Amino acid sequence: MAEDPRKVGERPVPPPFMWGCPECARLLLRLGRQWAAAEGCFWEQLQLARHIAAAHPDDVPPQHINGCDLCPYYARCKDEAALIWAQHRARDLFMPPSIARLI
Ligand SMILES: [Zn+2]
Ligand SMILES: [Zn+2]
Repeated sequence: MAEDPRKVGERPVPPPFMWGCPECARLLLRLGRQWAAAEGCFWEQLQLARHIAAAHPDDVPPQHINGCDLCPYYARCKDEAALIWAQHRARDLFMPPSIARLI
């Protein structure tokens, strides 16, 4: 993704559980460092979403109820998409709303 960090808006303040977890904190700091880098931070986003879905399933936000194109799709796929769906929802926790739901 080649989004311009200056145009997508602010990243949200991560919830407290993320700062209480060394792995979340490490990945958040890496994302922060890469945020404005020319090569982007796509990999860092994926890593963090993957970690949250795997390590903090209870903290993954619920299905987006409006304005999300992907949640209805993932919901239809059932089990095969469960993990990808959780990663999609976890992006809300650390990505600006304008781009959090793109994948
Ligand atoms: Zn964590
Ligand atoms: Zn969604």
